[in-house]
Amino acid sequence: MENMKCSRCGSDKIMPNLRIHDRYRVGHENCIGIEVLGKPGAAIFKETHKEFMRATACGDCGNVEFTVDNPKGLWETYTKSQSQ
Ligand SMILES: [Zn+2]
Repeated sequence: MENMKCSRCGSDKIMPNLRIHDRYRVGHENCIGIEVLGKPGAAIFKETHKEFMRATACGDCGNVEFTVDNPKGLWETYTKSQSQ
């Protein structure tokens, strides 16, 4: 993580792996995630695969990039949905 640079302004003031919050509620946090449906056409069991997202933010220009915790698992579900 040491040599990360901002893709927009080239700054090295990069803050990786930040958690993204929708809002705080009493008792639990609401993290933003992403989802892929394994069977988007199914009436009930769509086999939803959810992963949390992380943000990398630049401390100079404010550019934010997102990554997903488990991209391979998400990709597996996606390819499954495409093969139907
Ligand atoms: Zn920047």
